[in-house]
Amino acid sequence: MDIVTGHIGWIEVVCGPMFSGKSEELIRRLRRARIARKRVQVFKPSIDDRYALDEIVSHGDQRMKSDVVNSAKESLEKIDWRTQVVGVDESNFFGIDLVDVAQQLADTGKQVIIAGLDTDYLGRPFTPMPELLCLAESITKTLAICMRCGNPAKHTQRLVESNDLIVVGAAGMYEARCRRCFEPGIPRQELMDFAKPVRSS
Ligand code: ADP
Ligand code: ZN
Repeated sequence: MDIVTGHIGWIEVVCGPMFSGKSEELIRRLRRARIARKRVQVFKPSIDDRYALDEIVSHGDQRMKSDVVNSAKESLEKIDWRTQVVGVDESNFFGIDLVDVAQQLADTGKQVIIAGLDTDYLGRPFTPMPELLCLAESITKTLAICMRCGNPAKHTQRLVESNDLIVVGAAGMYEARCRRCFEPGIPRQELMDFAKPVRSS
């Protein structure tokens, strides 16, 4: 609880694939907090410098000033104790350390809003989102539109060849795909077991 205001803190998670509106939703909630005259701080990881250095930017070009940090712990160091609402974008780049940081912030009376990918380029749970989903008071899953068929899309399809978990990129390198159209690991799909032709012995 915040010892000054008596407010209880909590964690809100906004998760889903790329292009699903996570940043837009984060910006919307933070703007509303500002309208309510709350003190707001926003963090994003330094690894993500795709569109701007000191702003979070949605694919629809909505923007909001943010502090750039190298780690989750650094955001804790940069917190002004008077801050009431903390936003974190691209949370999946922070790794597991974000869990403790989010808990500490919520335990000290802050509203923590965390946006990030819930699955990786192979469709696997993406740390630290699964852990944060368990600890959050509120969860929102956003869906994009599948670029193949137009259905609701929960997957982030990687279009470039790489086996690295983190390849920072946007349109052209990734696109949203539904469950049916998602091809995990493309363009290396031909190497995966389920895609190999069945040989009769
Ligand atoms: P995220 O943070 O989840 O990557 P953004 O909030 O940055 O998403 O961007 C959402 C916006 O991206 C949408 O409002 C829309 O204008 C645009 N967009 C581009 N491709 C798609 C798609 N396949 N599905 C939905 N929105 C898309
Ligand atoms: Zn589809």
